[in-house]
Amino acid sequence: MADFETPVIQEYPVVPRIHEGVMKHSKPYVAKAKFQAELGYPGELIENWHDVAIEKLGDLVGKYRSLRVFLDSCVKCGACTDKCHYFLGTTDPKNMPVARQDLMRKVYRRHFTFAGKYFPKLVGATDLTKEVIDDWYSYFHQCSQCRRCSVYCPYGIDTAEISMAAREILDTIGVGQKYCNEVIGKVYEVGNNLGLPKPALRNTLDGLEEDLKDDTGVDVRLPLDEPGSDVLLITPSADFFAEPHVDGLMGYAKVFHQAGIRWTLSSYASEAANFGMFIGSYENMQKLALRIRKAALELGAKRIVFGECGHAWRVAYSFLNTLAGPFDFLDPRYPVPQHVCELTHDLIQRGALTLDKSANDHRILTFHDSCNVARATRMGNKPGGQMVIPRDIIRAVCNHFYDMPADTIGEATFCCAGGGGLLTDDLMEVRVKGALPRMGALKQVVEEHGVTHMAAICAICKTQFSKVLPYYGFTMDQIISVHHLVGDAIVLGDKQ
Ligand code: SF4
Ligand code: SF4
Repeated sequence: MADFETPVIQEYPVVPRIHEGVMKHSKPYVAKAKFQAELGYPGELIENWHDVAIEKLGDLVGKYRSLRVFLDSCVKCGACTDKCHYFLGTTDPKNMPVARQDLMRKVYRRHFTFAGKYFPKLVGATDLTKEVIDDWYSYFHQCSQCRRCSVYCPYGIDTAEISMAAREILDTIGVGQKYCNEVIGKVYEVGNNLGLPKPALRNTLDGLEEDLKDDTGVDVRLPLDEPGSDVLLITPSADFFAEPHVDGLMGYAKVFHQAGIRWTLSSYASEAANFGMFIGSYENMQKLALRIRKAALELGAKRIVFGECGHAWRVAYSFLNTLAGPFDFLDPRYPVPQHVCELTHDLIQRGALTLDKSANDHRILTFHDSCNVARATRMGNKPGGQMVIPRDIIRAVCNHFYDMPADTIGEATFCCAGGGGLLTDDLMEVRVKGALPRMGALKQVVEEHGVTHMAAICAICKTQFSKVLPYYGFTMDQIISVHHLVGDAIVLGDKQ
């Protein structure tokens, strides 16, 4: 445990008293020159950083109309102020969404509006100073780009997009974030966030196949690079070994096995995560997405299915076609791309899986909606399907399920506090404090219904919760993959 105090969960959530500057010290490690260069950025703060940053800001507000509208349209109504988990958990007023936006807005006004150029004090416009850059680095890395604030803003102002733009400007002047940029570099070099080369990946999958054989007595395969497969599964690399992710991977394998679907993983595109989105870089996001296209073409896959990963599903659902399409070589009978929950849900609806719900009777479940899935994507063909389908699956494989309070789930879900490129130990304080609202909601269903486990469909949420649950008196194994539950309930063998 680290040297900061874990916030106390209150019986009724309260808007905290503010404490100015208490999180000013929180800054992630800066990326080394080598990793900056791999992504096309300067290796350290450049000499003419001021002019380059302003030029980049002008470039971004010219290119992305939404960004300009967001910076122009805030009326300071205050509706977003108490909606960010990082403000609620840290009490730092610069973690209020409107204040976070203002870090960029005041510079934008100074350089790109008439009033800001000639009457800066009147409109709260300021120059871009080194101190402002420091604040950007600190507070734009205390935003998980979860978009909860935008749900409550009457103008729909999306702080996530402003954070992405700020990080892109920081990268452009040579001040990138170590964690995100190193991870992207590893995908370019090896194919996944972990830097796991093909022989090590095959070895890991062999071990998991043995575990599946021991558990079930059945030869459930985890194929790699098999041409002519119907499904190419793109899954977060954490699924290959991390807890509780790996049980989810074995759950997918059981689903494919029982449904008789020929599937494969790819060693070249062995990563669903796309950290290009976190750093706001379209170019890097596209370069990462193109690996998936290349793998699908080379393997002759007919469907691309994404495993349990929140932001990866956002990139896939919202942007994959633009980034790496057209996907006219895939089977048009299926969504492009498809989420593994959609696939499993469809099989359950059609009675294609043999399930024994009692296998999960030792668990009482709740479900954490991952922010990117809930607020930036959809599943199925009905609005809100991204909330309904995972719950339908859980109810089909478990007898005991209770939702957390309504204002903490669905579209209003609280982020796990590890998303948006913050899942690194150098940001542990903000991760723990930002988890406070979710921990409070979990505590409520634990006390009212005896909930033992919280299920999730996001690799980042799973890693984050396994780390922060103990800070709040829970145990790390209380977070579980939805497909772990499915895998435990599937009765393997011939369908009766
Ligand atoms: S996007 Fe999420 S993390 Fe960022 S300011 Fe809004 S509520 Fe906070
Ligand atoms: S809710 Fe929207 S308009 Fe109101 S203060 Fe926040 S960002 Fe500005």
